Amino acid sequence: VAEKETLGFQAEVKQLLQLMIHSLYSNKEIFLRELISNASDAADKLRFEAINNDALYGNDHELRIKVAFDKDARTITISDNGIGMSRDEVISHLGTIAKSGTKEFFSKLSGDQQQDAALIGQFGVGFYSAFIVAEKVIVNTRRAGAFASEGVRWESTGEGDYSLESIEKTGRGTDVILHLRDGEEELLSSWKLKSIIRKYSDHISLPIVMQKEEWDEEAKQTVVKDELETVNQASALWARSKSDVTQEQYNEFYKHVSHDFQDPLAYTHNRVEGRSEYTQLLYVPAHAPFDLWDRSKRAGIKLYVKRVFIMDDAEQLMPTYLRFIKGVIDSSDLPLNVSREILQESRDVKVIREGSTKRVLGMLEEMANAEEQEGKDKYATFWKEFGQVLKEGIGEDATNKDRIAKLLRFASTANDSDEQTVSFGDYVGRMKEGQDKIYYVTADSYTAAKNSPHLEIFRKKGVEVLLMTDRVDEWMLSFLNDFDGKELVSVAKGGLDLGALEDELEKKEHEEVEAGYKELVDKMKGALGDKAKDVRVTFRLTDSPACLVADENELSGNLLRMLKAAGQ
Ligand code: ADP
Ligand code: MG
Repeated sequence: VAEKETLGFQAEVKQLLQLMIHSLYSNKEIFLRELISNASDAADKLRFEAINNDALYGNDHELRIKVAFDKDARTITISDNGIGMSRDEVISHLGTIAKSGTKEFFSKLSGDQQQDAALIGQFGVGFYSAFIVAEKVIVNTRRAGAFASEGVRWESTGEGDYSLESIEKTGRGTDVILHLRDGEEELLSSWKLKSIIRKYSDHISLPIVMQKEEWDEEAKQTVVKDELETVNQASALWARSKSDVTQEQYNEFYKHVSHDFQDPLAYTHNRVEGRSEYTQLLYVPAHAPFDLWDRSKRAGIKLYVKRVFIMDDAEQLMPTYLRFIKGVIDSSDLPLNVSREILQESRDVKVIREGSTKRVLGMLEEMANAEEQEGKDKYATFWKEFGQVLKEGIGEDATNKDRIAKLLRFASTANDSDEQTVSFGDYVGRMKEGQDKIYYVTADSYTAAKNSPHLEIFRKKGVEVLLMTDRVDEWMLSFLNDFDGKELVSVAKGGLDLGALEDELEKKEHEEVEAGYKELVDKMKGALGDKAKDVRVTFRLTDSPACLVADENELSGNLLRMLKAAGQ
């Protein structure tokens, strides 16, 4: 048996612990939700590994989570008979934060407690939240399949370090023992713990059991019975009927599957029957994760087959441009031993992905079309967080392109703000008489777009122009030629044809002026030589003397700059 050794926490863990204890105190009950959530994940993992290795169960087939307390010792213990952890796993899971983007996240913290508390919430708190109420945490764990002598004890006061030692542990799984801080005595009550479990963890599909307590009339006090009772509903939430699930339960379930700390913006829950049978419970988060831009990052969908957890991050179930969606898909048709490779080719999966995509778009449309302010605000939040990713869908999902186009929002010359709130529909509704095109300008920034000399003629004529300044816009526009039968036209490209907006008289005048400048233009062409493809007299400018335009069929200046920056 190895000696007890002491190891230091990763720097970010130390910071997280410090912040959490101080800033999340008003929300301290969530520690139990987080620990139960981990216990439930551990059971899911065991079930999955056991599909191909039934021996992992040993003689203990009934997965459950047990919550107990000891008034004298001032402890609360959360036990599971899930997958457990090996020594190496303990070190990497309970000594570091494995989330991508952790370093960047911590570099953003300001030191202002209020501000940072909100950020920490976004980051997700997990296991370390135990230290909100505990001055010391002990974890006894044994990996499924390991010998009793291969147990590991992790112990820490949540300051700079933790200790590890080998122990004998009779059953597999994990016990988390919290030694409560002074002042947390109210948690040492059956009633209190049950009410916290029902509030935050009712959706957990495993039974959460506690020792039964009963009022003894003779002794005039509650006595602890030698019997366990199940505190939660212990059925998969997504398998319940919608009318049996409250908003709070949906929200708490979201936090469990997403490891998020905030409520979601919206969800959709459906049971689909027919060619393929499955249940989907999908959520739109209220904020973007740190690694939203990592397209290789796997999506947030948990795949279950007939209630058995199969895998996290099943990226085949959602198109890449909806990678921010979180939730559960439970299929009745897929085999239990389905692998990522099989998912890739499966027809069932294709059907599920198409169905889920339609559901998500429907959910977004509902938010986008909301009449009341709350709904409008939600869509604005959604757009701020995920709008740029949704734009990828224009190029990625030809089938749903029209639906996605309706969901897009832009800044526009109609508003004096860089906020992206104008839809193509809004634009079309405001088009001037005789206008048959949708005009836009692309630029690196809102300021550059707003001050583009190309806009001058449009301002003069009172024609609205959409201001496109996201990196993905040019790429997206290469897949989007029109909306609602109206051509999308860059104000910076080619000989701008204003169509009916330009009257006959103006046209004639322009031709005369052009003829008058022919000599000058020829001289300039000669002087510029190969540097310019053409020199033209223009009427689009009202203040600026000259501007550069791209050829109709050429990449625009902005896209060229982007490609250059990307080294192409
Ligand atoms: P998250 O649940 O978001 O991954 P946590 O901080 O809650 O983050 O947990 C960190 C990791 O520790 C988990 O991903 C898991 O690998 C491990 N872990 C925590 N609790 C348990 C447990 N009860 N059984 C097995 N592994 C656990
Ligand atoms: Mg967790």
